[in-house]
Amino acid sequence: MSIEELARKNVRELTPYQSARRLGGKGDVWLNANEFPTAVPFELTQQTLNRYPECQPKAVIENYAQYADVKPEQVLVSRGADEGIELLIRAFCEPGKDAVLFCPPTYGMYSVSAETLGVEYRTVPALADWQLDLQGIADKLDGVKIIYVCSPNNPTGQIINSQDFRVLLEMTRGKAIVVADEAYIEFCPQATLAGWLSEYPNLVILRTLSKAFALAGLRCGFTLANEDVIALLLKVIAPYPLSTPVADIAAQALSPQGIVAMRERVAQILVERRYLVTALQDIPCVEQVFDSETNYILVRLTASSAVFKSLWDQGIILRDQNKQPSLSGCLRITIGTRAESQRVIDALRAEPV
Ligand SMILES: *Cc1c(COP(=O)(O)O)cnc(C)c1O
Repeated sequence: MSIEELARKNVRELTPYQSARRLGGKGDVWLNANEFPTAVPFELTQQTLNRYPECQPKAVIENYAQYADVKPEQVLVSRGADEGIELLIRAFCEPGKDAVLFCPPTYGMYSVSAETLGVEYRTVPALADWQLDLQGIADKLDGVKIIYVCSPNNPTGQIINSQDFRVLLEMTRGKAIVVADEAYIEFCPQATLAGWLSEYPNLVILRTLSKAFALAGLRCGFTLANEDVIALLLKVIAPYPLSTPVADIAAQALSPQGIVAMRERVAQILVERRYLVTALQDIPCVEQVFDSETNYILVRLTASSAVFKSLWDQGIILRDQNKQPSLSGCLRITIGTRAESQRVIDALRAEPV
């Protein structure tokens, strides 16, 4: 047997996540991964690298609990929110039997994690306004253990109606977990569902330090849930999911000064978003700029594939969303520095229509 044939069937058939890094490109303006545009400096304070780290570093958990206004027992820290997505499937879904459900257009890792673990995934396309098709979800719930709802949604940028979350949480009570992926919640903090944890035993919330905290390279994310959910996740997580330097920097980022600095970065991004949106609105090849509550915007363009390629060749790397359902002609643009936005604006202005 070839090595390929030795592999699990679902792994042979797997399409890996098309991360911004994997897609490559020789750019000097990187606006395809929703990263913060500049680096925040840190110094390591822990030098005990001869020792294994704590599984759930106390300072990180306590700081995050305080920041999110939940109890430390309601917080799990992992190698990015992406690991949280996968731990949930490992804890709740029987391969070949149970299913997960999500509503495209949305984040790509839900399907990749399900496929990797040999768990079926089901999709219920979002409505025309990109809100949840609650009836469609209700009709497809049989065997579903986890529903992933990204809010604000990547890549559309809008918040999912909280009333719809309530209906979904009631509909699935005692049957399935509802995961609110709040990777971008710092850009619209009023929309968090964290305050609902005491009401809904089946609510799980995902968070990350990769976006507003400007630490995508750190690989650190959080799962907020009630204690019994966290206890199950702790059973399936690796014994040392975070290295000592990661825990050290995460605790600093979540200190009171770290939170203040994060909020200043968010305010700066919101100013830059306004600038970019306003400028894009009078560029000929731009058909529509969608409202965003995040650090990226979704834009519909005339001849979007040609525009994407043209900007790519000029070193401006955006994210092509054209293949996602209901997103034909759409590109996603991360809010970067003013200079980066200006490069995008100038390049788009030069595009023929
Ligand atoms: C970026 C992102 C994540 C992943 O966050 P990491 O902590 O970097 O793994 C999860 N969900 C959504 C919607 C994201 O955009």
